[in-house]
Amino acid sequence: MIKQKPKVAFYWCASCGGCEETVVDLNAAILDVADAVDIVLWPVALDFKYHHIEALKDGDIAVSFINGAIRTNEQAHISKLLRQKSGLVVAFGSCAHTGGIPGLANLTSREEIFRTSFHESPTVVNASGTVPQEDSLADGMPVRLPAFWEEVHTLDQWIDVDYYIPGCPPPPALVLSAVTAILEGKLPEKGSVLAPAKALCDTCPRRKTKSENTKITKIHRPHEIIADPEICFLEQGIICCGPATRSGCGEVCINGNMPCTGCFGPPPGVIDQGAKLISAISSLFNAKTKEEAMEMARQVVDPAGTFHRYTVPSSLLGCRIHKKAAMPADGRMDREAA
Ligand code: SF4
Ligand code: SF4
Ligand code: SF4
Repeated sequence: MIKQKPKVAFYWCASCGGCEETVVDLNAAILDVADAVDIVLWPVALDFKYHHIEALKDGDIAVSFINGAIRTNEQAHISKLLRQKSGLVVAFGSCAHTGGIPGLANLTSREEIFRTSFHESPTVVNASGTVPQEDSLADGMPVRLPAFWEEVHTLDQWIDVDYYIPGCPPPPALVLSAVTAILEGKLPEKGSVLAPAKALCDTCPRRKTKSENTKITKIHRPHEIIADPEICFLEQGIICCGPATRSGCGEVCINGNMPCTGCFGPPPGVIDQGAKLISAISSLFNAKTKEEAMEMARQVVDPAGTFHRYTVPSSLLGCRIHKKAAMPADGRMDREAA
C-alpha cells in the first residue's frame, strides 16, 4: 500500500508576499519539502480552488501555514476553513504572529485609509470619486469583493493557532527547521514560538560593546550618521530594538549595519514589546529633569512606528478605534460572524 504523504497548505491573508518569498528562498530544500508532503493549497504558486479544501475531511491537512494579518471577511473565512481541515495551524511571519506592518493601520480608521488611498494621495487620479464597493455590477454581472474591516487582527485573535514562526519575513533556515520538526513530530508544547527563547541582545555580535550604564544624549536616525559597524547601536544613540526582541534571525540587520526594528516580536515573558522598548530606551536617556526627558523623547520620530512597528494589534494599544463590545474576554473576535 502506498503511504500517503502529509497534506500541507500555505495561505496568505493581509500580506506583502514576502513570507511567500521565504518559502521560495528555501531553494533546493523546497524540493525535499515538496517531495515529503502533498501541497493542497498555495494560492501564490499553485491553482487550487477553495472547494478542493472544502471537500477534504476535517483534520485531513497535517499543517497549514498562514501568513498575513486578518483584515477582510474572506481572510477570516479561509483561515477558519483551514483551521477546521488542519491538524496544526502555524502563524507564519510577524503579520500573522503579532499583526505586523499591516497592523499599523489600527492607528487610523478605515475611512481615513480609503480617503487617502482613493482620493487624496498625490498619485491618485479619480475624478469620479470611485471607491471599491462590496457589491457592484460589471457588465450587468454581480461582483462581490471581500469586506474590508475596520481593524486588523492577528491570526490567533481569530482562530486557534498551534505554533508561531516569527519574522518579517521568517528566515529560510528557521522555516526549514520548523518544517522539519513538524514533519518529524518533534514539536515543543502547543502555543510555542518556534525560535530561540533569548533576546537579540544576548546573541548580537556587538553585545560586548553595550555597557551597563549607557547614556543617550542625542537620538540619531540610521540615515543621519554613519554607524560604527562594531559598536552597539544604542551606544551610538541609534534606537535598536534588540533589548525587547526575540533572537533567531541570525542578526541579519545588525550584520548589515542597520539596527533591529523588532520583527521577531517579543521574547518570552514580555507582554508588550513596544512598552518594554519604551521602558528600556527611556531608561538610557541622559536626563535629570522631566523637561529634559521630554526633550529626549521628542527626538524619537514616529514613536508608534518605532516601538510597535510589528505589534500594534497584539499590543496593549490594540487599536485606537477599538470597539470594546466587539472584543470578548479571551481577546478573540466573534468567530461565528465571518
Ligand atoms: S511578515 Fe513581513 S514579509 Fe511576511 S507578509 Fe507580513 S509584511 Fe510581508
Ligand atoms: S542594542 Fe542592538 S546593537 Fe546593541 S547589543 Fe542589542 S541587538 Fe546588538
Ligand atoms: S535584526 Fe531585528 S528586524 Fe532584523 S531580522 Fe532580526 S529581529 Fe528582524
